[in-house]
Amino acid sequence: MGTYYSVKVARPPAGLSAETLRLQVESALDQVIGEISTYEPTSELSRLNRDSSTDWIPISPNLHAVIAEGQRIAALSDGAFDITIGPLVNLWGFGPEARPDELPTQEAIQAARARVGWRKLELRASPPAVRKARGDLYIDLSALGEGVGADRVATELETQGVGDYMVAVAGTIRAKGRNAKDQPWAIAIEEPLPDQRSVHRLVPVSDRAISTSGDYRNFFVKDGKRYSHEIDPGTGAPIERHLGSATVVGERAMVVDGLATAFMVLGEQRGPALATDQGLAAYFIVREGETLRGFGSPAFEDYLTRSRQP
Ligand code: FAD
Repeated sequence: MGTYYSVKVARPPAGLSAETLRLQVESALDQVIGEISTYEPTSELSRLNRDSSTDWIPISPNLHAVIAEGQRIAALSDGAFDITIGPLVNLWGFGPEARPDELPTQEAIQAARARVGWRKLELRASPPAVRKARGDLYIDLSALGEGVGADRVATELETQGVGDYMVAVAGTIRAKGRNAKDQPWAIAIEEPLPDQRSVHRLVPVSDRAISTSGDYRNFFVKDGKRYSHEIDPGTGAPIERHLGSATVVGERAMVVDGLATAFMVLGEQRGPALATDQGLAAYFIVREGETLRGFGSPAFEDYLTRSRQP
């Protein structure tokens, strides 16, 4: 998936070797790539993106579930999160195509924006299908993809009888049970700083998923200005925020992965407001001049209090 994964298992069931587990984990991730990767030309999503039909196009139940979650988060975030953002992601050089040397022109941004809009994509559950309002709609599920991978690996581990595990696919993690020291898994939220890796705080995570999105890892610099991979559908350009990172805790990795990106695009005002309004457990780190200020939503603070109870 163009990134790293790690799986830690405590107290593995007897007879389950690390090598068997590795093959199963990689097969689960390969399946996800075959469904939703825009980097894999033969994936179901790439085929759907190449299909210029404006009639109903049948899709698999797995692809349907991811698109449905994307559309739910789009509605929740009033379109700040948008899985039809693909043409803009590609234009700014954050997709499968090579990054051009020059910044995109306003004309190119406007042309790409005309192809973007989550309401241009209709979804049907039974039988699963999508309908595009324009044949050149291009869906990008990368904001949910690591979560989909972590959920799928977690399911595979549980099928194998593993009860204590931590799965990380890049910045999205799912953990269950307890670690080798018989304590809840502790997940670090990093300081949102591009040139170093330091821990901002630790969060206990058991039977939960946690995901962080930020503007400090995937970006490029042009003429002294930083351009991040999170795109604001409202401007068609990379976000410019004081928000360094957003972390979300919840049950499913796919959901928290998408919500973390939605919060980044919403920014330091609208993001925390939405988390409070919807009772979502989120932690934000905002840059204030030279300092970093972290704060949790009420649901996040509740979550921490409950996790500290024996
Ligand atoms: P997140 O914050 O989780 O998501 C950011 C991404 O979401 C952006 O990069 C963009 O794609 C999209 N996005 C931007 N703005 C918005 C918005 N407003 N609304 C919704 N989405 C938005 N990369 C490679 O280099 N090579 C590969 O072979 C490769 N294969 C992949 C296969 C799969 C199945 C997936 C899911 C991704 C793959 N990637 C690959 C992509 C790479 O791993 C991405 O960097 C990653 O998915 C983005 O996740 P993140 O955690 O960095 O950021």
